[in-house]
Amino acid sequence: MRIEILNTGSELLLGNTLNTHGAWFGRELFKLGLRIERQTTVPDGEAIREALSDILSRADAVIVTGGLGPTSDDLTREITAEVLGVELMIDEAAMRSMEAFFALRNKPMAESNRKQALSLVGADVLPNPNGTAPGVYVPPRLNGRSNCAVFLLPGPPRELYPMYHAEVAPRLKALAGLENQNDALELKLTGVGESEVQDGIDAKLAQIPGLEVGYCAHIGEVDVRLIGGDDALSAGRKIVLDRFAPYLVSDDGSSIEKTVVRLLREQNMTLATAESCTGGLISNRITNVPGSSKVFTHGFITYSNEAKRDLLNVSWQDIEMHGAVSEIVARQMAEGALSVSSASISVSVTGIAGPDGGTPEKPVGTLWIGVARLGMETTAFRAFHPRNRKDFKLGASQTALDAVRKNLLGC
Ligand code: AMP
Ligand code: MG
Repeated sequence: MRIEILNTGSELLLGNTLNTHGAWFGRELFKLGLRIERQTTVPDGEAIREALSDILSRADAVIVTGGLGPTSDDLTREITAEVLGVELMIDEAAMRSMEAFFALRNKPMAESNRKQALSLVGADVLPNPNGTAPGVYVPPRLNGRSNCAVFLLPGPPRELYPMYHAEVAPRLKALAGLENQNDALELKLTGVGESEVQDGIDAKLAQIPGLEVGYCAHIGEVDVRLIGGDDALSAGRKIVLDRFAPYLVSDDGSSIEKTVVRLLREQNMTLATAESCTGGLISNRITNVPGSSKVFTHGFITYSNEAKRDLLNVSWQDIEMHGAVSEIVARQMAEGALSVSSASISVSVTGIAGPDGGTPEKPVGTLWIGVARLGMETTAFRAFHPRNRKDFKLGASQTALDAVRKNLLGC
């Protein structure tokens, strides 16, 4: 099924608003086993006409975002009706729900809002519980001038995302047809490099009929993408796991922090962090996960030596003798975090982000990570992420989260 995205909005081309819809739809459609063939971005107004006509001539479905608002530059509905040769009409139900939206907020409804209740004759109006502009779905059979299904959706993500899940995804699935509906898997691996992953599995995966394989490397992570029918997917999954099971973070695209929070909850454990060079990034990532309050107790950011001593009881003498970036300090940070917080497991990170501060024995990018756990011996290991500061922090947080994951899984 050829699906295209048409993003409208001058702000997207002026650089004022980052166009996140393309990436978001890519991820969401992938979960259905579908892919975006092409993404086009046009400014508000007349430019939509030509772009939409082009897309209608080649795609099976198009998702148009933005331009459903009340202002004069919001012309998506009007131009779509003209391009398709379908009349516009006021949808009474949409008008009522828009009036209710304003009444609930005790605000008068402006005259210009009325045009948001316009729909195309015979199209489905897609309710918008989070805003005023309803969406529109024009099925292919209605669409005299092309065989393409058309979705018109509002631009603001808080309105668009729920509408996609409630109204668009089920229709796309039905359009794609069960018989040729492929499924997709995204296996996230961490602690192993992209080429090692590919060398370990690619030749075997290539032998599975009907399996499409893709790789995507991020900092500290490699995603293996598998698309195909049920049999091809389970055969592909087995090949990846036979070789790389200990590195598997998730098989549904979930982040490592989400996996760590899930494992902590399953094992009834709590986590504290003791961060130096990551400056709170690990606790930030953990607390981005819904439900983390059940498992996360303390995030210590002990950037200075004094903070390490005063908050985590790290020995001043050891800092002076071995340096803040050392095995012994990483161990003491983790143990200090554990005893001060009464969490059941803790992770510490201390490293040299650079660009200054490196030495021949401890070059920029050097990192020590400690894991302390009630009733277990504390462990610490050295890692190396020689990158710019931002990527160093991301890589360090990834390695630290992976150390917690491995500890919880006993691997
Ligand atoms: P709309 O009024 O429907 O055209 O959408 C207006 C708002 O939605 C914009 O101000 C943006 O904040 C957001 N928006 C629209 N398109 C996008 C996009 N492609 N990516 C991210 N945000 C967007
Ligand atoms: Mg707009």
